[in-house]
Amino acid sequence: IAKIYTDRDTTLDPLKGKKIAVLGYGSQGRAWALNLRDSGLHVTVGLEREGKSWEQAKADGFDPKKTEDAVKDADVVIFLVPDMAQRLVYREKVQPYIRDGMDIVFAHGFNIHYRLIEPPSNVDVYMVAPKGPGPIVREFYVKGGGVPVLVAVHQNHSGKAMEKALAIAKALGGTRAGAIETTFKEETETDLIGEQTILVGGVMELMKAAFETLVEMGYQPEVAYFETINELKMIVDLIYDKGFMGMLKAVSDTAKYGGFTVGKQVINNETRKRLREAAEKVRSGKFAEEWIEEYGRGSPTLQKGMEDMDKSLEEQTGRRLKEIIERGKPKS
Ligand code: NDP
Ligand code: MG
Ligand code: MG
Repeated sequence: IAKIYTDRDTTLDPLKGKKIAVLGYGSQGRAWALNLRDSGLHVTVGLEREGKSWEQAKADGFDPKKTEDAVKDADVVIFLVPDMAQRLVYREKVQPYIRDGMDIVFAHGFNIHYRLIEPPSNVDVYMVAPKGPGPIVREFYVKGGGVPVLVAVHQNHSGKAMEKALAIAKALGGTRAGAIETTFKEETETDLIGEQTILVGGVMELMKAAFETLVEMGYQPEVAYFETINELKMIVDLIYDKGFMGMLKAVSDTAKYGGFTVGKQVINNETRKRLREAAEKVRSGKFAEEWIEEYGRGSPTLQKGMEDMDKSLEEQTGRRLKEIIERGKPKS
């Protein structure tokens, strides 16, 4: 059974007065810098270049520094640049300035688990991984809540690494919900498997496949969009609030009967076999190898995916319906 920490079990003390460098000011970087600062910790934002992030950090009241300048001064260095960029930033801008007793912190275990970054033994290496997108980590915190997090220690030089991980989890708002203890291996593999098979890959492709089937059969794209894409949020919100039983109680008996019988035909043993194959590919390290190779070639597949989705009929239809969707949203 998992060890779960909440606000009562945690304190900010291990990080009070320490200089924390947040590297990157994107999805997670901005949320972390703002939440940690609002929790009373000392945060400096470190960036590679002037540009969008730099301007945003300034607009939010930070005085961003070049990565190496933020790192030189720091007691705690948090990696919130993209996973594939971390190795180079580490090698060129962090490693040369590592001091005895520094902390190296991650929001996802990829670079440590797959040994792209191998810190020396005289530092603590730990992780606080939010189980939600950056903007939600910020929004929940501002509204008094918090997104659950996973915490893990890879290297415990000081003997206090877990206490510090929990202090960050608390400052992020994570322990208002709960912080689950895990390992770099478990976090890295489950995060990749989850985003590929369900959160990003699976759900997106199932929605697309359903939408495209309806359109191919001659139904109007607008009707197909509301049915197969827009309404999913309401169903997922019901599961989020009340579990599967809560969702089932809110839909018709016709929907329940059709769902129980047809769902298993669409997501069948063949689909489960594919899920297992995808998960094994993560576990074996083959996926990491492939992604590193793709990144090395300038991420052509990733870019094509973004371009194709931007031009797709579902995305175009969604944009056309945006006004209606916005108008219907609850007003408070
Ligand atoms: P983003 O893609 O949002 O990070 C963008 C930031 O990194 C910007 O400040 C950008 O600066 C900078 N950046 C971009 N490219 C480079 C580069 N080549 N070298 C240095 N800096 C660069 O990252 P995420 O927030 O998505 O991810 C950060 C970490 O958090 C990752 O480890 C990820 O796995 C983890 N994570 C992310 C989640 C999410 O919701 N996104 C959820 C949980 C964990 P500029 O504006 O100048 O380009
Ligand atoms: Mg994730
Ligand atoms: Mg991820």
